[in-house]
Amino acid sequence: MTQDGYVDGNALAGPLGEIFTAEVTQAGGRCLHCGLTLALAAVRVYDRAPGLVGRCPGCEEVLLRLVRTPDAAWLDLSGLSALRVALPAD
Ligand SMILES: [Zn+2]
Repeated sequence: MTQDGYVDGNALAGPLGEIFTAEVTQAGGRCLHCGLTLALAAVRVYDRAPGLVGRCPGCEEVLLRLVRTPDAAWLDLSGLSALRVALPAD
């Protein structure tokens, strides 16, 4: 945890691992707001809200939100203009 109240994007590994079968912290994304291309592990994750909020390290805008309820996960990726997930070659 930093003094600014966030942890790094590796905190997303477990919660997103419930949704995606690929290793998502190694995934790349592009910020919709400033165009920064980054690994999800570089996202600033604020975990003191109900759920997780991931903010861009370049411009501080919200990239993603993840809320886990007892029987579902709500994932908002609206702050990302693209998400690249590496998959095994065919
Ligand atoms: Zn940004």
